[in-house]
Amino acid sequence: MNGETGGQALRDRFQRDIHYLRVSITDKCNLRCVYCMPAGGVPLVKHEDILRFEEFEHLVAVAASVGFRRVRLTGGEPLVRKGVVDFVRRLKMIPGIEDVALTTNGILLPQFAHDLKKAGLDRVNISLDTLRAERFRAITRIGQVEEVWAGIQAAIVEGLHPVKLNVVVMGGVNNDEIADFVRMTAEMPVHVRFIELMPIGEGDPRFRGQFVPIEQMKTAISNAGLELLHHQGVNGAGPARYFTLAGAPGTVGFISAISKHFCAACNRLRLTAEGRLRVCLHAKDELDLRAPLRSGAPDEVLKDIFLQAIRQKPHEHAMTEKGWGNQARIMSQIGG
Ligand code: SAM
Ligand code: SF4
Repeated sequence: MNGETGGQALRDRFQRDIHYLRVSITDKCNLRCVYCMPAGGVPLVKHEDILRFEEFEHLVAVAASVGFRRVRLTGGEPLVRKGVVDFVRRLKMIPGIEDVALTTNGILLPQFAHDLKKAGLDRVNISLDTLRAERFRAITRIGQVEEVWAGIQAAIVEGLHPVKLNVVVMGGVNNDEIADFVRMTAEMPVHVRFIELMPIGEGDPRFRGQFVPIEQMKTAISNAGLELLHHQGVNGAGPARYFTLAGAPGTVGFISAISKHFCAACNRLRLTAEGRLRVCLHAKDELDLRAPLRSGAPDEVLKDIFLQAIRQKPHEHAMTEKGWGNQARIMSQIGG
């Protein structure tokens, strides 16, 4: 058996410390971002095929007993699922789980930020690809950017720090706003992370024309006269590389899935809404936990499935600047 169990560091075959579980709690979403979902949405998984919160809780407890320490809830849009606040509260009570975070489009945060904080949520990542109202509507097909702004303010007021903003950069769509996002970090305590577009799902057809590598983003920043200084990174730094403007309350990070594979720093497994463990964002391999869980398998069996998934983690994903052939799932199903 590779790795140690019982709250110890878990190392995979490439000596990476795997301690972070991303949990997609729903495939539903209240937006339809053009690079993520088709306009009509995706055929939803049957209700009974989605894990109940008690089932997720059980699996997270098993993961914690194996050595996982951090959990992030994602989706689809995690805040559209009823009962999410109570779920966060219960996750925070699991021995060994030190950090529970959330990735959200922010639309429902004004409604939930206070209760989530009270339930013990540690922090949020909010996706925001543009500062402009019309553009936001075009990218998300339905959303109002003001709602996300209210969500960001709510997260800051509630102290869900560090508040990170995920910006997927697309050529000819929002790459002219890179400097504006950087300037924002001089005014607000937000941590902007520029993300390379990935050729997954709806991102795939756009990829060839709109992919912007990190180096081009950095050039756009220096061409705007902005000097970024190295920064040691904020809590939960993950695969991003961090910088800051001198004296700024916020930071700027870059997440490079394609031009510089972030795989060497990979620390995670993904659990889909249907209870499948995904060994890599971009690999086909998934291990089913739902069937053994529902048939009453002992925790030792479930633990072994987590350990097997860690053993199966590839050295790096197969996407390149030429794209990627695997279309089996889209991002809203994997959880980003
Ligand atoms: N609905 C939530 C949100 O938008 O933050 C959580 C789920 S979403 C799938 C997670 C992240 O994946 C978001 O930051 C989104 O921008 C990103 N994402 C989706 N499709 C992508 C793609 N093709 N390339 C890069 N990032 C993508
Ligand atoms: Fe929904 Fe998030 Fe996908 Fe946008 S990126 S469609 S908000 S799941």
